[in-house]
Amino acid sequence: MIALRLAAKGHLEGETLVARLVTTPKDDRASFLGRDYQLTSQEDAWAYYSRDDHAIALRGKAEDLDGDVIMLPPNASSAHRLIRANSQHNSLLITEQCDQLCVMCSQPPKTKHTDMFAAFMLACVMAPQDAVIGITGGEPMLFKEQLFALLMQVHAERPDLTFHVLTNGQHFEPEDVETLKSPAFNNVLWAIPVFADAPEVHDRIVGKAGAFERLLKTFELLSHTSAQIEIRTVVMQSNQAHLAALAGFLTTYIPFATQWSIMQMEKIGYGRMNWRKEFFDTSTDFAMTARALCIAHGRGLDARLFNFPLCTVPSAYQRYAVASISDWKCKFEDFCEGCGLRDQCGGFFEWYDVGSGFKAIGYYEKA
Ligand code: SF4
Repeated sequence: MIALRLAAKGHLEGETLVARLVTTPKDDRASFLGRDYQLTSQEDAWAYYSRDDHAIALRGKAEDLDGDVIMLPPNASSAHRLIRANSQHNSLLITEQCDQLCVMCSQPPKTKHTDMFAAFMLACVMAPQDAVIGITGGEPMLFKEQLFALLMQVHAERPDLTFHVLTNGQHFEPEDVETLKSPAFNNVLWAIPVFADAPEVHDRIVGKAGAFERLLKTFELLSHTSAQIEIRTVVMQSNQAHLAALAGFLTTYIPFATQWSIMQMEKIGYGRMNWRKEFFDTSTDFAMTARALCIAHGRGLDARLFNFPLCTVPSAYQRYAVASISDWKCKFEDFCEGCGLRDQCGGFFEWYDVGSGFKAIGYYEKA
């Protein structure tokens, strides 16, 4: 698994350091912030960097860290890799607080919140050209004012960046409409979960009465903006029978949605706790997912499969599967050796367990 934190030493006092690691001096927009730490040496497992008379060391290979943006609190023994320059899967965890309790949540909510917006702002400004940055939680819109300010300030500095914000869609208000019409938000894709067309099913899955009704208000508000919207639906035992109806609902009531991501479950957090009750094995029964895909595409909604290993998907539908699992938590199993689909396949989550997972892996050809 790719490390998102690195053992660190050298930053003993002062403020939390947000810095870009460089092997050679750079002459770009980010370098003018004066936060580049230049490689001085690589000694065994440690890469040493300095700026002026301040030196830090990080456990890792300098060639893997070039261009990364790290956050290192004083006296801390590890640094957060906020931006990995060579990755397409960077995301900033705004908060671990959430006002829903979804049955398959991979990152169960916590009550404590630490405000890191200042560090995130710097990290975005130092990100590589044209980067796509994920904004996640918890529920990032619990800190809507700061989030909107971040998106607008970053856009002013770095209009080349785009953002993918995962939100439960419960916090958009009529007064946000004008803000959302500003150019900064043209670079934002809002990913909002809808689990069923039936309010009681959606509300039970997210653990919040009235959540579905609130979502309808959100979509009505967003219809007055040019917001790009991705609908997300995790397929589970409790909602899979609703997928075809949901396809009809989305294409009727949210025709302005950009994309529909039909997702497989992740066995971690509440997803692990509720795996037996909720994991739906689409490798043994793909019929409802297939119907949903056909209805969505027939009505012009770009529906995709996320987190579906290709060999669990009938070949006629494999073209809809996206290699969606982030690089740092993706793995391949021993049986992937020699698979003819490996180059296009997204593989499995790091915490996937063969014994309790897909039972009919087999739609693949050996190379
Ligand atoms: S690489 Fe091949 S065998 Fe492995 S998960 Fe993907 S499709 Fe299946």
